[in-house]
Amino acid sequence: PELFAPERVNSVGFDLRDVPTLETIEAARTPYLTHRWTAAPLLACEASPAAAVPVQNPALPADQPGTVAPASAEDVNAALEAAQPWKASPAERGEILNKAADLYEDNFGMLFALLAREAGKSQLDAVAELREAVDFLRYYGANAPSDAPAGLFTCISPWNFPLAIFSGQISAALAAGNAVLAKPAEQTPLIAYEAIKLLHAAGVPRTALQLLPGAGDVGAMLTSDPRVDGVAFTGSTETAWKIRSAMADNLAPGAPLLAETGGLNAMIVDSTALPEQAVTAIIESAFQSAGQRCSALRCLYVQEDIADGLIEMLTGAMKELHVGNPWELRTDSGPVIDATAQAGIAAHIAQADAEGRVMFQMEVPQTGTFIAPTLIKVNSIADLEREIFGPVLHVATFKSNELDEVINTINATGYGLTFGLQTRIDDRVQHVSDTIHAGNIYVNRNQIGAIVGSQPFGGEGLSGTGPKAGGPNYLARFAAPDAQTGGT
Ligand code: GLU
Repeated sequence: PELFAPERVNSVGFDLRDVPTLETIEAARTPYLTHRWTAAPLLACEASPAAAVPVQNPALPADQPGTVAPASAEDVNAALEAAQPWKASPAERGEILNKAADLYEDNFGMLFALLAREAGKSQLDAVAELREAVDFLRYYGANAPSDAPAGLFTCISPWNFPLAIFSGQISAALAAGNAVLAKPAEQTPLIAYEAIKLLHAAGVPRTALQLLPGAGDVGAMLTSDPRVDGVAFTGSTETAWKIRSAMADNLAPGAPLLAETGGLNAMIVDSTALPEQAVTAIIESAFQSAGQRCSALRCLYVQEDIADGLIEMLTGAMKELHVGNPWELRTDSGPVIDATAQAGIAAHIAQADAEGRVMFQMEVPQTGTFIAPTLIKVNSIADLEREIFGPVLHVATFKSNELDEVINTINATGYGLTFGLQTRIDDRVQHVSDTIHAGNIYVNRNQIGAIVGSQPFGGEGLSGTGPKAGGPNYLARFAAPDAQTGGT
């Protein structure tokens, strides 16, 4: 088979009519949704699952799609002992990863259902996520390097892209010939387990790929053991710092860390922007995926002259959104991941409310961990003390002569992940792109949903170490340190 068929990337032929909606699922009780998994780590402790804990559907409190047995210290040790770099040639590795991509596509109904049930993903999000996961497998597989691998890589992935980022980290490390110990987010082990089974079925050796579900303690063991040669991590900036210091204390000095972390992402809308285009871009960037993307828009800057009209259009568009159960086709945005996340975001909104800064808030279902999409007035992005990982958009205004000051304030946050600009002035596009510090800059469109292969994704400063995922320099960092050539 052809190793890399570029036309297949981002044009995966899902037929949405084949996607099971949870309505049809509830009616038909299809097997994969009533089945309960024990997502014990493969190889190391598959045979002896410890006390299994239920996994929760964020939109439906009564629904527990499966159970998971977190890895123990013995399981981690056994996995470390069993791990063996993947000895196949780069071409064979690429072929097997491509085969795994085919299996993901063949099993998309099961994966869709889990994305909805375990991660609260709307169908729109689930399509994009499965497509991205498939793209990662094919892209890294097609570019499998022949450099010596680092050896053993720990991959720690987040719940907000439980299939795409999980598969992206793993497939990059595997394409480079490493052994991988994968720790999925605590909230989303089931889809990780299903993905690992598909990778093994495609031909990835079990010694080269093991799953170790669990919480931060498992991640800590996997990033502080000298048998580990490198770490790929996506999650909070705070956790990345802890990982870096654990690695510094315990791993070889040259061990690579690839970290993709948080952002305080802004969009600037000037008075020449097309209002309909800007509103669509704002809605998608701030509220799609319930704002749970590290790329999501957190602070909107609107030029004062057009602010009233634009905010009115924006609140009008928000009223049209459907926030609800992910398995309904009409749903634009689902729940946030769990009760802890919900409480943290709700506290932030409550504080803004007490200060009289809530400009608009939608209504949402009362069951499940939903947060109503909300607009909050701020003076500037400097008012945001931290990344609020949910459907909350902060809004500031600026005067026509304050553009450079706004750019400086955004840069001063220290984060630099995504940035959006809405303008019809060409020189301004050039000037702002040249001065803003952000890994991914989007002009006159939304600022989420980077595409593997054509829009490498990653930030600078507090937002990550680089190199960008889904780009030409990423795989090089999974090679042995002396083989690395650098580049972002
Ligand atoms: N790559 C995703 C995007 O472009 C964001 C990844 C993340 O949230 O970690 O929207």
